[in-house]
Amino acid sequence: MEKPAIEGGKPTRENYLVFGKPYIQEEEINEVAKVLRSGWIGTGPLVRKFENLFKDYIGCKHAIALNSCTAALHLTLLSNDIGKGDEIITTSMTFAATVNVIENVNATPVFVDIENNSYNIDAEKIKEAINSKTKAIIPVHIGGLPCEMEKIYKLAKEHNLIVIEDAAHALGAKYKSKKIGSFGNPTCFSLSPTKNITAIEGGFVCSDDGDFCQILRISSQYGLNQNAWQRYHKERKDTYEIILPGYKYNLTDVNAAVGIQQLKRIDKTIEIKQKYAEMYSKEFENYELVELPPNKKERTHVWNYYSILLRLDKLKILRTDFINALHLENIGTGIHYRAIHQQYYYKNKYKFKHNLFKRTEFVSERVVSLPLQTSMSDEDLLDVVNAVKKILNYYAK
Ligand SMILES: *Cc1c(COP(=O)(O)O)cnc(C)c1O
Repeated sequence: MEKPAIEGGKPTRENYLVFGKPYIQEEEINEVAKVLRSGWIGTGPLVRKFENLFKDYIGCKHAIALNSCTAALHLTLLSNDIGKGDEIITTSMTFAATVNVIENVNATPVFVDIENNSYNIDAEKIKEAINSKTKAIIPVHIGGLPCEMEKIYKLAKEHNLIVIEDAAHALGAKYKSKKIGSFGNPTCFSLSPTKNITAIEGGFVCSDDGDFCQILRISSQYGLNQNAWQRYHKERKDTYEIILPGYKYNLTDVNAAVGIQQLKRIDKTIEIKQKYAEMYSKEFENYELVELPPNKKERTHVWNYYSILLRLDKLKILRTDFINALHLENIGTGIHYRAIHQQYYYKNKYKFKHNLFKRTEFVSERVVSLPLQTSMSDEDLLDVVNAVKKILNYYAK
């Protein structure tokens, strides 16, 4: 049997395959240079253009560009008057930001386990978690696979709850031919470097509610009723007024210059990711030491992450050993995610019991994301497959 590099064998690759490497082309670099030379680098015409392109791509009435998805989630909670005494239902199988923002507005996160056939929140279990304090549900489309939105909306309607979608992974994803973000409720997207498209950093809130969007926009620029572009250009009015004590969450034209170019390529990006996900799944389909990532009918999965589960019951090693071994083969990986309720702050504050969210904890211990990015080649992908199999075969029970 071939020895893994960690046991003294030859590494699968010579150069390191970085996990989540962004795909930046000359167009982005040229457009950034143009903005830097233009004399206006803050929030201005390019951000407006980006918002219009984004809105058209999603098919919603309003799209507001912000400097992160965390800001988008935070302002969405604030603009819906969510705060102390309110409970927000979400998943523990997510990134820190989803839950941190709930804490940041002094509301209480209430976790629900994930589905048996995906990494997404189990809509069937949401009902048990609803009580008179519940204000909102934050479903997260993990990896780019849409949640059971029909069931979630039905529950939300019955109990008069707001649905705030964390669509950080789901730009371009569809639920029954409808794009995520086009249903009318607030939906938050991320443009950080490991997401399907990037603006270096950035985020969006999409919604059909004009009043909500107006408050949100004002909140994102210090709470002023005019932005700097309006104050210093021809659109100039007398002066600004502080409407509310807002935040500094605006996107810049430099970021928009990158994002606009990336958005132009989104369909191509998704197509490549779907092709690579299919290649991986074919290679691992009949391989008994891993479980394939979930996929579902009537969904368009956009594969922000390709996350397998290790069959630890059939292995002599733990996930950390596997990740270290893959690292020495010169292949990077990610973990999406280690359960939030098992992490220091949340564990201490809420004293969660072990095995409270069985499936979340099961996935949390076993999940590994393999490189899946437009900047890679077919050969890179086959290197990953070979390295994974080399290591797992070596340590199989
Ligand atoms: C990346 C991510 C966020 C935060 O996005 P930023 O743009 O980095 O603030 C929120 N939720 C999920 C699920 C994410 O993966």
